[in-house]
Amino acid sequence: MADHDVMDKLVSLCKRRGYIFQSSEIYGGTGSVWDYGPLGVELKRNVKDLWWSAMVHQRDDVEGLDAAILMHPRVWEASGHVDGFTDPLVECGNCHRRFRADLPEVAGGQCPSCGTRDAFGEARSFNLMFKTFMGPVEEEASTIYLRPETAQGSYVNFLNIQGAARQRVPFGIAQIGKAFRNEITPGNFIFRTREFEQMELQFFVEPGTDDEWFDRWLDTRMKWHLSLGIREEKLRVHPHGPDELAHYAKKAVDIEYEYPFGWKEFEGVHNRTDFDLGRHQEYSGKRLEYIEPGTNRRFLPYVIETAVGVDRTMLVALVDAYREESVEGEERVVLALHPRLAPVKAAVFPLVKKDGLPEVARKLHDELRAATIPSFYDEAGSIGRRYRRQDETGTPWCITVDGQTLEDDSVTIRDRDSLEQVRVGLSQVRGWIRERLDDA
Ligand code: ATP
Repeated sequence: MADHDVMDKLVSLCKRRGYIFQSSEIYGGTGSVWDYGPLGVELKRNVKDLWWSAMVHQRDDVEGLDAAILMHPRVWEASGHVDGFTDPLVECGNCHRRFRADLPEVAGGQCPSCGTRDAFGEARSFNLMFKTFMGPVEEEASTIYLRPETAQGSYVNFLNIQGAARQRVPFGIAQIGKAFRNEITPGNFIFRTREFEQMELQFFVEPGTDDEWFDRWLDTRMKWHLSLGIREEKLRVHPHGPDELAHYAKKAVDIEYEYPFGWKEFEGVHNRTDFDLGRHQEYSGKRLEYIEPGTNRRFLPYVIETAVGVDRTMLVALVDAYREESVEGEERVVLALHPRLAPVKAAVFPLVKKDGLPEVARKLHDELRAATIPSFYDEAGSIGRRYRRQDETGTPWCITVDGQTLEDDSVTIRDRDSLEQVRVGLSQVRGWIRERLDDA
């Protein structure tokens, strides 16, 4: 299967099965904005819950925050986004479409849209922040931005959280939330979109310990990706060279994934030094220093940031899980999602729609749901077709109620990946699944 085919197939599977739809599709779609359907929203919640569990619930040194999307406009002056969050943009003199000047084709002088050569005007800086107005008057003074990252909410709340949670440096603030960037060249499905969600940690450390914490967090984040079942050979670390480093960063690496369209960023780990706290201190006129208990020593902590997209994690999980296989002479498409990521954990089928089998199957389905195991009931079509639907959905286990169930209270459980079938007592099914989810 050619790599470029994989993306087309994945986009169509995601639509067919209800993972992801183009936003406002009936109006021709909104550029690079996507809606998550019934399965997509479950996958998204699983991604966020697993991140939150690993980054907040299982640690003593990280606190959660949900800051607002709209922030004081001065925040974005202090952060450098008003002046610096720009891409160079050129316009084609023939078709008047605009492109990023650093795209290889554009840098070579050819318009990617109409093919005209050497018709580009001067490069201009284009700010990627979405602007809107606060209050009833649309004037410059009431300009406000949709946040392009969640990080600033954590910096301006640094002392609020440190005090309220009685944390001592080193400690971190974790957030999951929407971010907006008016990207000039978005694309590759949900890889780069204009509205997306981020999962970011800002970890505050004493200067001098920052290199050590940087290495620790890079290692922790890499392990998290592997814990989602992402193939190790598809992940690598790309350190930023001096010309790639952001204005605030002392050191930065990208954790990259090999997408069907090449190796590209998956997550960023950055040493942002005391740049952000220092700038907010300067722009707000409020002291943001940490006062060390006992010694009363004051200092501005350095920040190690880990920043990953929810949507991008979903894309990696989906791409990594997508397989086309031939099983006993029949083709099947399977999403081999890690069981903890899978939107539906178990599908329950009566083998036939008679002899009381649907009633037994429905009862089992209800029991699983009551035990917070997302389950799906299906009695339509041949058993083979029902299996294939669940393979495409990514459901790890299919449970079939058959004639033998009425004799000995046992059912078959089919494993999505190995296709092995085992017989398990009806009353044991719940525990059997729970055990595998916990061990996965
Ligand atoms: P790029 O250079 O690819 O535009 P970036 O280096 O600006 O991205 P960061 O600001 O470090 O990205 O954002 C952190 C993470 O947020 C990225 O690693 C990615 O997972 C996610 N992300 C950033 N921009 C987008 C976007 N437009 N759409 C989806 N996810 C994004």
